[in-house]
Amino acid sequence: MLSFTGNPLDRASAERSDPNWIAAQQARADALFLPIWQTKPLLQGKRAGFLAATEFGLKPENFCVFLGLRGEQPLFAVAIADSEEPPLRGLGEFCDMRAAAFVLSDADSAIAGQAKALIDWHRRHRFCANCGTETNPTDSGYRRLCPKCGAEHFPRTDPVVIMLPLFGGECLIGRNARFPGGLYSAFAGFVEPGETMEEAVMRELKEEVSLKVTSVRYHASQPWPFPSSLMLGCYADATSKEFRIDEHEIEDARWMTKAEARLRLADGIADDVKIPTTIAIARLLITDWVQDA
Ligand SMILES: [Zn+2]
Repeated sequence: MLSFTGNPLDRASAERSDPNWIAAQQARADALFLPIWQTKPLLQGKRAGFLAATEFGLKPENFCVFLGLRGEQPLFAVAIADSEEPPLRGLGEFCDMRAAAFVLSDADSAIAGQAKALIDWHRRHRFCANCGTETNPTDSGYRRLCPKCGAEHFPRTDPVVIMLPLFGGECLIGRNARFPGGLYSAFAGFVEPGETMEEAVMRELKEEVSLKVTSVRYHASQPWPFPSSLMLGCYADATSKEFRIDEHEIEDARWMTKAEARLRLADGIADDVKIPTTIAIARLLITDWVQDA
């Protein structure tokens, strides 16, 4: 499975807005807390570093969000105050979320990604976008309420289309100027207001590589907690192989045959071109396309 997908928790959305229910869950002896410090989850080796409240000394002022129930067991994320040196020494190590995704199990990466996205959203959305007043978290972390104007604010999930254009057994991959050295990937962009997913795919490919596509098809999605995207993986049929790169965004683009893609997926070509890593949905789009006879 793909990193950040397949979250196994029951989010108990009907119960979690009841403060008494949440307080009872938090007080359970088997409740576990995943500390997040500077957007980094705590890891214990290759596992998410869930701790019991007594292990790290949970205090009433610690900000927690409810992640869900694993069976009967309640899991929370807890925000650890900013400090220069990593806290909770001896209990695990805080690890960059992207790096963590490479070592965690799929389930742990999905839970840690949920925790990171939620805690990070609260850090960066403390004030009402409508009137500027400081808002209060409610619904165990799934809503913030403005005490002045009554506006409700919900954790963001920003839809991003990510697509592989296809033509006659080849796919087009591109190099964004911001990509690390040698990396070519699927094309991507935020869905804009008033736009369908399919329209966003067509617009982005027109803007980035002047490529006209038809038959946009949804394939799979992936929560991408950097900071709060939902990647919508698509294929689209190009009407021709001709493209022209928009040099503001794209440095280079190239068509890749299935034979070449198979070799690259197996690390079988020794050159400077790199394809996306295993945690990225762009790689899944390439892998599934290659398998599709
Ligand atoms: Zn307000």
